[in-house]
Amino acid sequence: MTETVDVPVVYKGERIRRTRKTKIVATIGPATASMDQLRKLFVAGADVLRLNFSHGTQADHGQVLSRIRALEGEFDRPIGVIADLQGPKLRVGTFAEGAIDLTPGMRLRLDLDPAPGDTSRVCLPHPEIIEALEPGNSLLLDDGKVRLKVVDKGSDCLVTEVVFGSRLSNNKGFNVPDIVLPLSPLTEKDHADLQFALEQGVEWVALSFVQRVEDVEEARAIIGNRAAIMLKLEKPAAIEHLDELIERSDAIMVARGDLGVEMSVEDVPSLQKSIVQKSRMAGRPVIVATQMLESMITAPAPTRAEVSDVATAVYDGTDAVMLSAETAAGAYPIEAVGFMDRIVRRSEADPAYRRILEGQRPSPDGTAADAITRAAHETARTIAAVAIVTYTSSGATTLRAARERPGVPILAVSSHGPIARRLALSYGAHAVFAPGEIDSFRAMVAKAAEIAQEHGLAEENDRLVITAGVPFGQSGSTNILRIVEVGSETGWVTE
Ligand code: PEP
Repeated sequence: MTETVDVPVVYKGERIRRTRKTKIVATIGPATASMDQLRKLFVAGADVLRLNFSHGTQADHGQVLSRIRALEGEFDRPIGVIADLQGPKLRVGTFAEGAIDLTPGMRLRLDLDPAPGDTSRVCLPHPEIIEALEPGNSLLLDDGKVRLKVVDKGSDCLVTEVVFGSRLSNNKGFNVPDIVLPLSPLTEKDHADLQFALEQGVEWVALSFVQRVEDVEEARAIIGNRAAIMLKLEKPAAIEHLDELIERSDAIMVARGDLGVEMSVEDVPSLQKSIVQKSRMAGRPVIVATQMLESMITAPAPTRAEVSDVATAVYDGTDAVMLSAETAAGAYPIEAVGFMDRIVRRSEADPAYRRILEGQRPSPDGTAADAITRAAHETARTIAAVAIVTYTSSGATTLRAARERPGVPILAVSSHGPIARRLALSYGAHAVFAPGEIDSFRAMVAKAAEIAQEHGLAEENDRLVITAGVPFGQSGSTNILRIVEVGSETGWVTE
């Protein structure tokens, strides 16, 4: 592979059509918040944009969101937006000298006194965590660089011993992997950010540090159907309830950053594979996230190991791969998306990739919708159709089609803008917002052929496989499969 990637030329008004099936999520931050950078990022390959509420103000995120909506109008393509809530991020207090040096075996008291700390003590301003931890439990600080073991406990303090680590500075975050945190995943800040994000109209809300099914229910009670819920899997407790949590979610993120701190780093690759496979089985979009092209925060090209990591996620069959600091604060955000796009396309072109995905194909559920969806996949392959078309009001039909991981694009037509935007995250989906209700089968077929041509998915005489539900507009009614030849002499439809 060459060491450079072209920065894309931006053609205003040009219709964007990706040739890959695996989607790219890019996190927006100071490096990409301007209209010009957002445009370049989208053209380079970002399908879904993530607003990280751990950084920036609501006003910053609101401004970015309005630019994203303007971009959608410019390119007439739906762009999904994820509001990623910070969740209960735990932090230690400050030190009188800004930081302390640590040596293994040294004792450090964690207490509730807000006074700046020293080499004997520091504030841990979370009484419920002090209450829940017991001797023998561990605290991991500063992304796992420091490990403290609880050796004794008082009424409002913990006595810990340094297991490893050499330095601890002000306000470092910490993780407590050994216990189920006695905390809701929605802090006061999260509640305020959530209200803001819902008012602004985002498609996805990502919940951090989810541990229990009740955590999802708590968020669902507030969100209702105003946005879809993405669960970030990063706690051992969540892994213990994996099947139930996937079932209750609308999408999943393998949040490898915190997951690799809370669990052993060597657990992460096998967990990634099993979470991706289980999410696919359940028909939930899944994102593999964090440190995918980490070195590109400061370098114009990725390492070989990073290239291999992105490719592995693609071969695992993920719906999407994600960039965090690389696009939010890195020096080469557009190049990072460009490299990711190239790696994904190259991996998807490998015949072994398709064999792997076919080999892991989940069994259909015993429903009419799954029977039609499976048949559409087989039919498209048999007759060399150029696309599978799904008409969808709730997105459900397209999600079932994406679960099959077909080798041809899924043209997902929806008269609901937010649904088209949500589907921007799904494997192989080329989502199109087509306002106006369709009231006849013939009109639907004509519309499908027209959109497929307009979006560069089909040419004259190409065949499309269409799935739809009658009665129209009723969610979950998929019961029709139709083969259509584009531009045939009898009009749009071969009858
Ligand atoms: C992660 O931990 O991998 C992650 C995506 O979470 P965040 O970056 O929001 O801490």
